[in-house]
Amino acid sequence: MKVAILGGGPAGVGAAHRLRVTGRGEADVFEANDYVGGNAASFELEGQFVDFGSHRLHPACDPKILSDIEGLLGSELLRRPRHGRIRLRGKWIHFPLKPVDLLLRLDPGFATGAMLDTVRKRFGRRGSGEETFATVLRAQLGETICRDFYFPYARKLWGLEPEQLSATQAYRRVAANSIPKLIRKVLGQLPGVKPVGFSHFFYPKEGFGSISRRYADAAVEAGARLHLGHRVRRVTPAADGGWIVEADGPTGEERRVEADFMFSTLPISVLARLMDPAPEPTVLEAAGGLTYRSMVLIYLTLASNRFTEFDAHYFPGAEVPITRLSETKNYSLVDEPGERTTVCAELPCSPEDTVWGMSDEDLGTLVADNLRSLGLDVPEVAGVHVRRIRYVYPVYATGYERHFDVLDRWASELPDMVSFGRQGLFAHDNTHHALAMSYAAVGCLGDGEFDRQRWAAHRREFESHVVED
Ligand SMILES: Cc1cc2nc3c(=O)[nH]c(=O)nc-3n(C[C@H](O)[C@H](O)[C@H](O)COP(=O)(O)OP(=O)(O)OC[C@H]3O[C@@H](n4cnc5c(N)ncnc54)[C@H](O)[C@@H]3O)c2cc1C
Repeated sequence: MKVAILGGGPAGVGAAHRLRVTGRGEADVFEANDYVGGNAASFELEGQFVDFGSHRLHPACDPKILSDIEGLLGSELLRRPRHGRIRLRGKWIHFPLKPVDLLLRLDPGFATGAMLDTVRKRFGRRGSGEETFATVLRAQLGETICRDFYFPYARKLWGLEPEQLSATQAYRRVAANSIPKLIRKVLGQLPGVKPVGFSHFFYPKEGFGSISRRYADAAVEAGARLHLGHRVRRVTPAADGGWIVEADGPTGEERRVEADFMFSTLPISVLARLMDPAPEPTVLEAAGGLTYRSMVLIYLTLASNRFTEFDAHYFPGAEVPITRLSETKNYSLVDEPGERTTVCAELPCSPEDTVWGMSDEDLGTLVADNLRSLGLDVPEVAGVHVRRIRYVYPVYATGYERHFDVLDRWASELPDMVSFGRQGLFAHDNTHHALAMSYAAVGCLGDGEFDRQRWAAHRREFESHVVED
C-alpha cells in the first residue's frame, strides 16, 4: 500500500517508520517545516540543543515504543531524575512532591485550606447544574487548590475562564498524575515520607527532537520518502480510490503524490479546509468552531554556566504570564558551552494578543522582568531568540465536543484515510501517545484494507491516555 502521511511530527514519522519496518506499505511524508518533530522538535541555539518548551519522555510510555526508542537512540537516551519546582503563593515547592518539603514550605493558609477541603469533600455533595471544568475540579480538588493553582493556570494555558471550559478538559487533562491532584494526594496522606509522582524521565542527549529525527532517519533508510519544507495545499480523492496530495515546496515548486491511503496528522480543522471538493458547510462551520491555543517561546541565553539547578520551574499563578521555564542543560547533562546557558519561557497566547507580535527584545525584557519580580537572580542576558507556534493546545471550550464530533464523523466517513495525532484527534496528548496512535494506525492496515473496527477499539483506548505534566 502506498500511504501519504500529512505532517512530520512524532505521529507522522512514527507511522512512516512503522510502515517500513513492518513492510505494510510505502510512505511519503509531507512536512511544512524543514525539520521533523513538529511541536516535539529541537533546534540548535548558541551551541546547545533546545526544545519547543519543556519536553521529556515520560516513563508511562508503552514498553514496546520505549524499547524502539531505546533501540534508535542507544546510549544517547538518558534516564534523568526529575528536579523541578513550582511557585505557589510566593513559595517554591519541589516537584516531584516530597511530603516533608511540602509541609515545611507550603504557605500555611494554602495547606490548611487544601486539607480542610479534603475533609469537606468526604461530606460534601455534588452540585446538580451543568458540569464544566470549574465544577468538576471544585468537586475533585476543593476550592483552595482550584483558586490558587489550577484556575489561574487554566486561564493562562487556555485563555478562558474555568466556567467557559468543558468538563472534558478536567477529566482528560487533570489526570491522577497532574500536579494539583498530587498535591491533594500528598496533603491527604500526611505525614507520608515517600515522594509522589514519577521521579525520573527519559531525555535524549541532543534534545527531545532526536526521537523524531531518529524515527525519520530510520524510516528513510528503510525506503520512506520525506518531503521536508512541503506544505500540503490540497487533498483530492482520486477517481479510482485513494488520494492525490499536492504540496508547495520550499522554492515554490509543486509536489503531487498519488496514494492508496492517507494518514493525516494535521489539525483536523486544517484538513477540512484543504479538501477539494470542499466538505459540506456544516463541516467547515464545525472547523471554525474549534480553537487551538498558540504559544510564544522566548529563549534567553544567559552569561553564566547555569541559571539554577532545576530542570523546570512551573508558574501556575497569575502574577506572571509565563507558565513554565526550562533550562536545557539540566535535562541533557551537557555542560557545553561552559560560560553560557539557555532558558526557555513558555507564554501561551492567541495570535490576536499583543505578545504574539511583540519584538524579540521586548519579549526578552518581559521574561527577565517576570523572573526578577519572583526574586530570581537573572544573569546578564547575552541573547534572545523567539519562536511562535500556532497550534499548541486544543482548547476544550464548552460545547467544543459538538464541533469535534461533526468533524470526526466527517473524517471517519472518508474512504481510505484516517486522522490521528495530537492535532488530528484534538487531544492533549504527549509524544508517546502520538507514537502509540501511529503504531495503532499502521497495525490496522493489511491486505489493502484498513480495519475500521480495530481502529474504533484503538480510539476507545486513546480515550484513556493520561497526559503527564
Ligand atoms: C509546550 C509543550 C510542552 C510539551 N511537553 C511534552 C513533554 O514533556 N512530553 C511529551 O511527551 N509531550 C509533550 N508535549 C506534547 C508533544 O509536543 C506532542 O504530543 C507531539 O508533538 C504530538 O505529535 P503530533 O505528530 O501528533 O503533532 P505535531 O507535533 O503538532 O506535528 C504535526 C506536524 O504537522 C505539520 N503540518 C501542519 N500543517 C501542515 C501542512 N499543511 N502541510 C504539511 N505539514 C503540516 C506541522 O508542521 C507539524 O510538524 C508538549 C507540547 C507542548 C506544546
